[in-house]
Amino acid sequence: MLDGRGIEDIHMATGWAGDGAVHEQIDATIQDAIARARSGLPRGAGRLRCEDCDAPIPPARRKAVPGVRLCVACQEARDREQAAAGKGSRHRLR
Ligand SMILES: [Zn+2]
Repeated sequence: MLDGRGIEDIHMATGWAGDGAVHEQIDATIQDAIARARSGLPRGAGRLRCEDCDAPIPPARRKAVPGVRLCVACQEARDREQAAAGKGSRHRLR
């Protein structure tokens, strides 16, 4: 059957290709996180009003979510959108 060597060759070949792709993804994620952290940190208290619908954001929420920009409703809507966008391709695998 298979004698180790063949598997190693395949492993190395895919390992190289996959490595670059993963690194690029991690890079983008880290840069995104840093950008978010930088834009969020200076204003630890967050916004008084929702960026989307201009609804007042409760102090408790601003405390709980440093740098908050959206009210609960809009944040949930965005989370759902992102979840739908992120999971859409995965759901198709079913
Ligand atoms: Zn809102």
